[in-house]
Amino acid sequence: MRLIDVDALCDEIESVEYSGHDPEVERICSLIQKAKWIDAEPVKHGYWEEFTRIVIPQPYNHYEQAWKCSKCGYDEGFLEWKYCPQCGARMEKDHE
Ligand SMILES: [Zn+2]
Repeated sequence: MRLIDVDALCDEIESVEYSGHDPEVERICSLIQKAKWIDAEPVKHGYWEEFTRIVIPQPYNHYEQAWKCSKCGYDEGFLEWKYCPQCGARMEKDHE
């Protein structure tokens, strides 16, 4: 199954230059608009941002490496997690 944005598709079809009024184009758009549809949310993409967390403050200055979600800032993440448990973003390894 592939999800599409029907409104964007119809805008695209209607923007294609064709000579005069074409009832077939309108019929196709009408069929697409009437097609059965499902609710879906766009996938959020994020990545784990490495940062340094202060574990024990001065004068001991003990730090640890930690990871936070680039989308919502959730900072209890682990690199192995494929999704952020707070905002649901899918974590991408190649985010440059
Ligand atoms: Zn998040």
